[in-house]
Amino acid sequence: MRITRIETISYGWSLWVRIHTDEGLTGLGETYLHSDPARTLIENLFGPALIGQNPLAIEAHWRRMFDQTNFAGSRGAEMRAMSALDIALWDILGQACGRPIYQLLGGAVRDRIKVYNTCGAEPGLDFLVNADEFAQNLLSKGIRAMKIWPFDGYARQTGGHFISLPDLKKGLEPVRKIRAAVGDEMEIAMEFHSMWDLQCAVRIAQAHEEFNVMWLEDMIHPENLEAYEHLAAATRLPLTVSERLQTRYAFLPVMQRKIARIIMPDVEWCGGISEAKKIATLAETFNLPVAFHNFGGPVLNFASAHVAASIPNLMLLETGRCLLNQWTDEVIETPIVIEDGHMKLPEGPGLGMRLSDGLLRRDDVEVLVVE
Ligand SMILES: [Mg+2]
Repeated sequence: MRITRIETISYGWSLWVRIHTDEGLTGLGETYLHSDPARTLIENLFGPALIGQNPLAIEAHWRRMFDQTNFAGSRGAEMRAMSALDIALWDILGQACGRPIYQLLGGAVRDRIKVYNTCGAEPGLDFLVNADEFAQNLLSKGIRAMKIWPFDGYARQTGGHFISLPDLKKGLEPVRKIRAAVGDEMEIAMEFHSMWDLQCAVRIAQAHEEFNVMWLEDMIHPENLEAYEHLAAATRLPLTVSERLQTRYAFLPVMQRKIARIIMPDVEWCGGISEAKKIATLAETFNLPVAFHNFGGPVLNFASAHVAASIPNLMLLETGRCLLNQWTDEVIETPIVIEDGHMKLPEGPGLGMRLSDGLLRRDDVEVLVVE
């Protein structure tokens, strides 16, 4: 089998890539968020090198692309482009074998995937306004963990360099409301988007301790691991790190230095399905759980589900109900099914999903071809 053509498709914050073969199989991949540079790399660097190659040699392609990035370093747009291509190659392999990708990763360790909800605003539900009702609503659907980020507004006011005691109290108000409404029935993940300096992060982390939140995510930038070690030592709550890191090489010192107790790669940023599986295995050797970041495009749900199904050390998978509602059958042919707080495993060979045919004909969708 040979790769004959690669398309990149830009829509909203998603960049999709389709790899076509001379045997009629087409693999779908995705990356997202500021993905124009990734698209350029696929069109000018990685794509031309893949044309004419055997798509089933996934490991070889990953390593060759990684080596191609030597001149610039492997992070950023390079790794996002590689992630999209890697996912598309796995989709082809699955279709060629007639098996779902999770089967080719060693088989399913679980028959459904426990999820939490990242609480982007929905009609009538906003965690800054009615976190208590949000929690009750999620519980009624069987979802028992939620993620909120009520401190971001305060970080913007001071550049993340100061938080007053009254603001600290106000930031914790949604947490208080959730506990008052549903007690310990709801796990609460606190997201900070790396907006704080170390001093503020310690103060904020310690203020959360009485509420036993599930984790503190990305409190500071992950660039300086010495600062992160300090933060980890200053709170008894577990730190989660981070969709901002790419490849196993970036995650290894976070584990070695006992910074993160929950490992959170993004399959479409960290290096694709190949690399996400390796990062998860690395975490397993440190007795650490993985909670994949999954707040992107529709393909990310499927790619994440395949890896999540196949690893023993999965904690939870992120989902965003506010996003799921946007992916109607005009965008994808296969719905993402979440029932009783769990995502169903994808069905069918490969990723088990397709973009809708009508989508590619829309005016706001731009398709470019590498041949
Ligand atoms: Mg995050």
